[in-house]
Amino acid sequence: MDNSENSSIRTEIKEISDAEFPPDQCPHCGSDNFTRASYYIRIVQDLGQPGIKREIRYESVVWKCNKCKTHFTVHNREVTKGKTYSPGVIQYVIHRVLQKGDSNRRVLDDLKELHNVDISIGTINAWVNDAAKTNELPTDFTSYEPPDDYSGAMSVDGTFRVVKQKKNKTQGKENEPLWLRLTHLPDGRLVAYWRPVKTKKK
Ligand SMILES: [Zn+2]
Repeated sequence: MDNSENSSIRTEIKEISDAEFPPDQCPHCGSDNFTRASYYIRIVQDLGQPGIKREIRYESVVWKCNKCKTHFTVHNREVTKGKTYSPGVIQYVIHRVLQKGDSNRRVLDDLKELHNVDISIGTINAWVNDAAKTNELPTDFTSYEPPDDYSGAMSVDGTFRVVKQKKNKTQGKENEPLWLRLTHLPDGRLVAYWRPVKTKKK
């Protein structure tokens, strides 16, 4: 517990790790023979309350399938991909600004004074702008025709992306291009994995 900065505020640290929620199988070949390949630690700020600062110490794990050698990660619902704030903080900002009509600056002050979240006005502006833009975009893609060899729905933060192989790209063991693939596990979690691009000769 860190209370050196301000004796009236205590910090609660919640530790979560992808290792606690491993997938059942490799998303590529279905094998259950996989192990940890690497990990990194990210500190994520969560919504606190007066007198209590909350942090999440998140261990992100990259898994490696021992059968097909695919590396993959499983999205953890308690953190937002690539962000150092919990989903709760982001939802709080979006709700206050876009639903309640509060100013970005007022929400920043409340986050600091009432919830002990250190955040910049630039970060809040970016989230609000992103959310405002996303709300204008269509969210129903069911009428879109997928490519012939499409293996499943892929969604990154609400944006659909298709990873294409570059034509005329030289194939080499040293720097084989990788395909990033996204799919969902049976339990609904998003899983990302990447494979070398293999050119099929017919
Ligand atoms: Zn595999």
